[in-house]
Amino acid sequence: MERIAVLTSGGDSPGMNAAIRAVVRKGHHHGLDVIGVQRGYTGLIQGDFITMELGSVGDIIHRGGTILRSARCEEFRTPEGREKAVSNLQQHGIGGIVVIGGDGSFRGAQHLTALGYPTIGVPGTIDNDIPGTDFTIGFDTAVNTVIQNIDRIRDTASSHERTYIVEVMGRDAGDIALWAGLADGAESILVPEAPYELDDIVERLARGDRRDKKHSIIVVAEGAGNAFEIGKKIKEKTGEETRVTVLGHIQRGGSPSAFDRVLASQMGANAVDLLLAGEHDKMVAIRNNEITAINFDTAFSMKHQPDMSMYDLASILAI
Ligand code: ATP
Repeated sequence: MERIAVLTSGGDSPGMNAAIRAVVRKGHHHGLDVIGVQRGYTGLIQGDFITMELGSVGDIIHRGGTILRSARCEEFRTPEGREKAVSNLQQHGIGGIVVIGGDGSFRGAQHLTALGYPTIGVPGTIDNDIPGTDFTIGFDTAVNTVIQNIDRIRDTASSHERTYIVEVMGRDAGDIALWAGLADGAESILVPEAPYELDDIVERLARGDRRDKKHSIIVVAEGAGNAFEIGKKIKEKTGEETRVTVLGHIQRGGSPSAFDRVLASQMGANAVDLLLAGEHDKMVAIRNNEITAINFDTAFSMKHQPDMSMYDLASILAI
């Protein structure tokens, strides 16, 4: 194998640039040419390729987003779209591809392997919702962004003696809400993985009130319920107003944390090693603090589950 390609696909996450840098630098270390594909599978179909020299990834390790840009590409879901991609890969003499993205991107990667182009996935998404790995690139930064913002909200919640409901990202996975809620001492944490009772939320608020605690934070993962609706129901039950903050896309941006930079560097470099070892159809993962690899199919057969012992602990500590 003399030439490999790297692309970022799906939602961006902080640390993707550090992963691109690792793929490029480790590739050059092994004497490979590295091609950057712009805008994910869209660039693969359109032949939007750039040569990645060593200097092309300088000064990016600390930047959020992705210098290769990212996209969602409907055409790649069709055999015709994938044929165009393969013809471009052929023309450029590319022998292997590193796909940095989420599980949807990995399903696309599997098609490339089936068409004769070995692929290795690197999990990059803030949601931490990819089965088979304990952490994804970008999750740690997103949690830190959330807690910095909740700390600010806490200041005003405390000054005005109010209850704030903070909605965070996580349509299917409650990891961000769980980590941020525990780290921030939230009174209640609502995640898609656990049903919640309004009475329990109200009782927790009342308990705080009885010991003269007049402000509270409730963290809601977007997949667990609508923060405004929950606020309305609390008002109906208690007569007390709540304030709602939806953190939204600020959670996706920003300079990656040390953890995400290190994880991205290790995973990106490992992906190159795997391609050179003749591996394909695998995702790099971190499990029990060790960088490892797992077949895409094995990962897809597993179910992602956040550490629910944290949920129980947060509940005990918030009393
Ligand atoms: P995120 O976690 O941010 O949603 P993702 O990688 O899961 O990231 P998707 O939108 O699901 O994001 O997938 C990214 C792209 O991967 C899609 O736009 C499409 O081009 C490709 N893709 C996804 N699923 C498939 C599939 N089954 N077959 C072919 N290509 C796919």
